[in-house]
Amino acid sequence: MKIDVLTLFPAMFAGPLDESIIQRARDRGVLALGIVNLRDYTHDRHKTVDDRPFGGGPGMLLKPEPLFEAVEQLSGEKTRVILLSPSGRKFDQAIARELAGQEHLLLVCGSYEGFDERIREHLADDELSIGDYVLTNGALPAMVIIDTVTRLLPGVLGDDESASDESFSAGLLEYPQYTRPAEFRGMRVPDVLLSGHHAEIAKWRAEQARARTAAVRPDLIK
Ligand code: SAM
Repeated sequence: MKIDVLTLFPAMFAGPLDESIIQRARDRGVLALGIVNLRDYTHDRHKTVDDRPFGGGPGMLLKPEPLFEAVEQLSGEKTRVILLSPSGRKFDQAIARELAGQEHLLLVCGSYEGFDERIREHLADDELSIGDYVLTNGALPAMVIIDTVTRLLPGVLGDDESASDESFSAGLLEYPQYTRPAEFRGMRVPDVLLSGHHAEIAKWRAEQARARTAAVRPDLIK
């Protein structure tokens, strides 16, 4: 899969995507990542990407010209152009699975007060928010999406790290997990997990996942 990111802050991407599972996916060629500076698509001396909103109001908006030019040059037939914005539909594991099936994502990061509306109307295939809060720019949302999608690509997680049992995979939060020692400062691991009885363990985990979800995230239980 190829993911390109259009941003005003390419340096923000150094680090989080150069480590661990994501770097491994890049090394293996499962993920081809491109970080592109929007200012490279400006043609004036000051490399201007923003301007004041018509009708007044605070802040600056990203101008259409550099964004249209960049998206048109970076897109192919199979590209899905995704605008990152607090006004988008809320990103979740189901959307991540859907995106993991695409060939090419182009993530467009906003900055300042956001985008000229024509970008939203005529350039984007989709608009995603990572939650009901406002960040300074789209770099962190882009990294959240890249990380979540990449670990779902075939072969990225080993058997030991499988995504199939995780929170949200079956619509519920994950069940409680324990490791050695079986007793620590008087706190014991539930007996069923030490029993070796696979059917009982599976039943206990399903009950725990449901109870935890009902207590913490009842909205996930349909
Ligand atoms: N004026 C905008 C509004 O009220 O919706 C907020 C703009 S925000 C300061 C600048 C940029 O950060 C946005 O254009 C978007 O790309 C990104 N951003 C901020 N919060 C986000 C979120 N929750 N999800 C996705 N992108 C976000």
